[in-house]
Amino acid sequence: MRTRARPCYPRGVSDPTRSAPRTGPAGVPAAGAKKTLLDAVWDAHTVRELPNGDTQLFIGLHLIHEVTSPQAFSMLRDMGLRVRHPERTFATVDHIIPTQSQKRPLPDELAETMMTELERNCRDHGIRFFDPESGQQGIVHVIGPETGLTQPGMTIACGDSHTSTHGAFGCVAFGIGTSQVRDVLATQCLSLARPKVRRIEVTGKLSPGVYAKDVTLHIIHQLGVKGGIGFAYEYAGPAIEAMTLEERMTVCNMSIEGGARCGYVNPDESTFAYLRGRAFTPKDEAFERAVAWWRSIASAKDAAYADRVQLDGRGIAPTVTFGINPGQSVAVDERIPRPEDLPPDERPSLEEALAYMELRAGVPIAGTPIDVAFIGSCTNGRLSDLREAARVARTGRVAPGVKALVVPGSQAVARAAAAEGLPEVFRAAGFEWREAGCSMCLAMNPDKLVGNQMCASSSNRNFKGRQGSPTGRTLLMSPAMVAAAALRGRVADAREIL
Ligand code: SF4
Repeated sequence: MRTRARPCYPRGVSDPTRSAPRTGPAGVPAAGAKKTLLDAVWDAHTVRELPNGDTQLFIGLHLIHEVTSPQAFSMLRDMGLRVRHPERTFATVDHIIPTQSQKRPLPDELAETMMTELERNCRDHGIRFFDPESGQQGIVHVIGPETGLTQPGMTIACGDSHTSTHGAFGCVAFGIGTSQVRDVLATQCLSLARPKVRRIEVTGKLSPGVYAKDVTLHIIHQLGVKGGIGFAYEYAGPAIEAMTLEERMTVCNMSIEGGARCGYVNPDESTFAYLRGRAFTPKDEAFERAVAWWRSIASAKDAAYADRVQLDGRGIAPTVTFGINPGQSVAVDERIPRPEDLPPDERPSLEEALAYMELRAGVPIAGTPIDVAFIGSCTNGRLSDLREAARVARTGRVAPGVKALVVPGSQAVARAAAAEGLPEVFRAAGFEWREAGCSMCLAMNPDKLVGNQMCASSSNRNFKGRQGSPTGRTLLMSPAMVAAAALRGRVADAREIL
């Protein structure tokens, strides 16, 4: 077993001196091997290798929110422990916060209790809390990047599955459970198995009207919702490299939906340009030193990968899910598959999906009527998402009988959108413009589907009951496609509207 001291480097910046090659446990690259970013970051944060083959991994940034932290703090109290690194821990409120008004006390008693508890825990342990009064509140995976807390080369953990979002910046970021939240609070470390790395190259150029959401839905469809188990996904290739950081976040966000532990894009000039000048990024010369370190941890050109996949970006079309997991999708101009078209082992899940979704096999997905349209979430609640949806919204009015919500991912996104007049565009078209939060992605707040309503949603999960009603139905798609569905009252190809 090899042991070394806990890394000690300034808050928010991984130590550039800690990138020397190391020998990992069996099955991982040997010392001196050309490394992937995953291995470089993993090695730089390894405290020691544990007898069971896991790594004791130092966590550079711990993001917490109101849902998965109360029990962890309570366990900490029971054990008489303090938060080990409050300066590396940041809190926000997102899941339970109402989006019609964030005024206190919150109307829902349980939500108010969770909010109060988070405030108390942050106060007691000296943790910075981006509460609604701060002007920086928002979905945890939106505010991390926009404040510059998320930086290349970091290890980031958060008690939410979609922590993989942060990998867009070239860091190793993953969701953890409540007992792991406790462990990170108490020790700033986790015991984890090192994932293998699959490089997914998306070649070519995306066609107009095809978005990062379509790319990620396409990848999950191709590789399966369990295809990534045991892997970290490294996204690469011209189509990924041409994406903005917001688009890369959308792709990395849904890595978990493909079964991967995390997903990342190697940091490049776009990454550095995005981070320069953000509240928590280093300044002046320190920024330049950080950039040098960030460059150094990118995957070597001849790094060894456990697997490689290549997909043609030119073949990706606007994509819509029809089923009950994000892999069950078709292009907007395709038909819902028939069980007899699939291999026998895939038929039962298709039949289950069609029964739940009350959809018929063999009919075009375009034209499927919707009741609700939701634009928001940590997948697609950023400024560029709202801009694209607004381009569609400008062309018409929400169809009669459709309830349409636009929920910015953070207060900063809301302000930036307001500066461009986007709330007025949406309101004029008949959308409701709400305050920042998770809203109808998980519906742990008043934004819920009712009965078996069908929702065109820019979120990330279409599981049974995900949006607050046990019989509610979800069709995942890009924000522009959600806006198109809202205007038409049925699934429609946003490219035809634009
Ligand atoms: S928007 Fe959805 S997936 Fe993202 S943090 Fe909130 S509940 Fe989780």
